[in-house]
Amino acid sequence: MSTPFAAASATCSAPGCVSPAAAQWRRRPTAAELDAVVAAEQAQRQRIIELSGADGGTTAFGPLPTAETCTQAVYGCVQHLLGLDLAARIHASTCVPDPARLPGCACTPEPLPTTPVPQPPAPLPSGWVVTPPTAAPEPAQPASPAASP
Ligand SMILES: [Zn+2]
Ligand SMILES: [Zn+2]
Repeated sequence: MSTPFAAASATCSAPGCVSPAAAQWRRRPTAAELDAVVAAEQAQRQRIIELSGADGGTTAFGPLPTAETCTQAVYGCVQHLLGLDLAARIHASTCVPDPARLPGCACTPEPLPTTPVPQPPAPLPSGWVVTPPTAAPEPAQPASPAASP
């Protein structure tokens, strides 16, 4: 999960606002931003292939970024912040702080990801259960030479 605190050098994403960013949230990239991300990733992969001397066909890379797998930061100053619940979600590519709608926004953000509830471990067969030891005796305290002059 990304931090809601913005980089120190970022400025607010609200139109016409140049205040320093106080927090950030995420939105999906526009088509142009996604093209730039993919081009940068391809250039980096090409550079890795060139530096490694591999032929490119045997170098394993993961899939290229898509609109579903990457996000862009939206910055808000202290006057142009979304509510915390909204800021935790990923917004549409068109989302910018809109002073008329704050602390809401014009888009419908994606729902928060659900984390699976961990299942309790299966019971172990007999012989595999270790009972914790009873209270261990206190270790003997060595005499401190500094205490006795
Ligand atoms: Zn602002
Ligand atoms: Zn939004």
